[in-house]
Amino acid sequence: MISVDEALKTILDTIVPLPVEKVNILAALGRVLGEDIVAPRHLPPTNNSSMDGYAVRARDTGGAKSTSPVILNVIEDIPAGTVPQKALAAGQASRIMTGAPLPEGADAVVRMEDTQPDGRQVHIHVEARQGLDIRLAGEDVREGETVIFSGSVIRPAEVGMLAALGRSFVSVYQRPVVAILATGDELVDIDEPPSSWKIISSNSYATAAQVIESGATVLQLGIVKDRRESLIEKFRAATRADLIISSGGVSVGDYDLVKDIMKEVGNAMQFWQVAMRPGKPLAFGSIQGVPVFGLPGNPVSSMISFEQFVRPTILKMMGHKNLYRKMIRATLEQDLAKREGMRYFMRGQVRWEAGRYYVRSTGEQGSGILKSMVRANGLIVLPEQTTSFRKGEEVLVQLLDRSMEQTDHPDYV
Ligand code: AMP
Ligand code: MG
Repeated sequence: MISVDEALKTILDTIVPLPVEKVNILAALGRVLGEDIVAPRHLPPTNNSSMDGYAVRARDTGGAKSTSPVILNVIEDIPAGTVPQKALAAGQASRIMTGAPLPEGADAVVRMEDTQPDGRQVHIHVEARQGLDIRLAGEDVREGETVIFSGSVIRPAEVGMLAALGRSFVSVYQRPVVAILATGDELVDIDEPPSSWKIISSNSYATAAQVIESGATVLQLGIVKDRRESLIEKFRAATRADLIISSGGVSVGDYDLVKDIMKEVGNAMQFWQVAMRPGKPLAFGSIQGVPVFGLPGNPVSSMISFEQFVRPTILKMMGHKNLYRKMIRATLEQDLAKREGMRYFMRGQVRWEAGRYYVRSTGEQGSGILKSMVRANGLIVLPEQTTSFRKGEEVLVQLLDRSMEQTDHPDYV
């Protein structure tokens, strides 16, 4: 039996990011960039106006005040999206809109509010210094500059920048295809007529949902009977995927064949059994180079093992650097006790009140009590060595619910 930390390290050491693929920038949202983005041209591409107003030669406006305006001749109208046709000579101005390129000769823009049009002339009420209200070519991004680095997660800001640089497609790390199979003679699929001695393979769906939530693609391989030939056949078929997850059949019962099959087909079972609760009977190995997780059959064990080991694996395959859920410190609202030598992941209800987090157990913690997962928005992580925890103590909680990372309105506003 190995520790949670050793298990995680063993697993992640074998995982490398998948190759990249080209996708549309909107499809790239939330994915990890697999190339450096170098600007093909300046941004903005030319000097342009940052205000609606008049493009002028700064030196022509010397001494201008609202009581003694400078009067300039307006020679052109430059809406955004047009190219100026006339260069400014002494005593001239062009009416210009925000974003329009500056005409030759102009070195400042006087905003509309500081002017008064008068026929084909304009009264300038302020003295403009050189560069006033001009955006310089390349002031945002310079041609040849690396703007976004490989390994960055694409957020709306990156999508905007890629669009501004004229990139409609980018390389991102592929999403792994994850094969899911459920083992057990007692299992039926969701719409099969139920009978009292059969149970619905809820793991097939919970795992698929976890896979999707992690950003990967599901390859559903269905239910497999606890028979050697069926299991071998299914595991072999599953090697088409980038990652294989099975549930059940990893305990010490007579029909728990998965770990033997993993050895036989894969010839590489790295470990079995982790010092944690729930989720102790976890098998990890590979078949023909494809990583395989043999998750425990009990629904809660399966989900929690996935959280601790499979989710970081999928994120690493997708090129992510941050692999873990947010951990918070919360004040315990009750006493808790546990056995020594195992890390416990207790289902907890976290709440935020007056600037701090509080947490309590969701109640019955059996590994078959799926309701304890439904009620939980966090996992209370209780360390191996400690056996008792007092009400009021601070404990670490892994947040399962991203909305709990958001709190009430911050009081610094
Ligand atoms: P096993 O590890 O195969 O002995 O499974 C342990 C228990 O988990 C079984 O007795 C079932 O009650 C439950 N179980 C196993 N596989 C599934 C599944 N796919 N969906 C829901 N429950 C399961
Ligand atoms: Mg079984």
